[in-house]
Amino acid sequence: CIFVLMNDSKYIGLRNKLVAELKSKGISDKKVLGAIGIVPRHLFLDPVFRDKFAYEDSAFPIGEGQTISQPYTVAFQTELLNVSKGSKVLEIGTGSGYQTAVLCELGVKVHSIERQKNLFNSAKLFLNQNGYRAQLYFGDGFKGKPAFAPFDGIIVTCGAPYVPEDLKFQLKVGGRMVIPVGDKDVQQMKVISRLNNDDFKTQTYGDFKFVPMLKNINN
Ligand code: SAH
Repeated sequence: CIFVLMNDSKYIGLRNKLVAELKSKGISDKKVLGAIGIVPRHLFLDPVFRDKFAYEDSAFPIGEGQTISQPYTVAFQTELLNVSKGSKVLEIGTGSGYQTAVLCELGVKVHSIERQKNLFNSAKLFLNQNGYRAQLYFGDGFKGKPAFAPFDGIIVTCGAPYVPEDLKFQLKVGGRMVIPVGDKDVQQMKVISRLNNDDFKTQTYGDFKFVPMLKNINN
């Protein structure tokens, strides 16, 4: 028990350092920083890599050629999403489930889609075991989740070749989608806001590099 406590306090210290680093890089939303300060990112990594990499501000492989996003990117996208407790959010690319957990920590009702069966299975098990209640789906993120639309926010955590029309129209009026758009080497972070039934506004932020958003399940 003492070991567990010591172990945990070590990670608390590392998380606090990570939060300070994100602040120094320009993340200012207190709730977002608070959530990053709580979610045990080390548990989302293979135990072998935990101590060295869990609280480094970098992306890390999670298997199946995919990565757990860099903490700065998670914080930046979550800040842009601008959601509050009780908001309904659709995430594309569950991956490790880390971004999902950060949103859950903010009190968001999360629906998240993953196209790789193995990642879907492991994230589902893992999030459940750790008390993160999110609706997880195995499927194609390009189609969104019409049955549960409209959403206050949509967050795409893979690099999209273009903004999928289906996703735009699953936003509530007043809602926003945070999506990195570009080719496989670099994407621009975009915020698409739904102004009314037909009109959208697009804002563009900096360059990022995500794993690609792919069509067709399991290839
Ligand atoms: N949010 C994740 C990021 C994982 S990387 C995290 O915090 O760990 C992006 C994920 O998007 C990968 O798991 C990849 O399999 C998934 N993905 C790629 N194309 C997709 C699509 N069309 N629909 C749903 N998920 C997709």
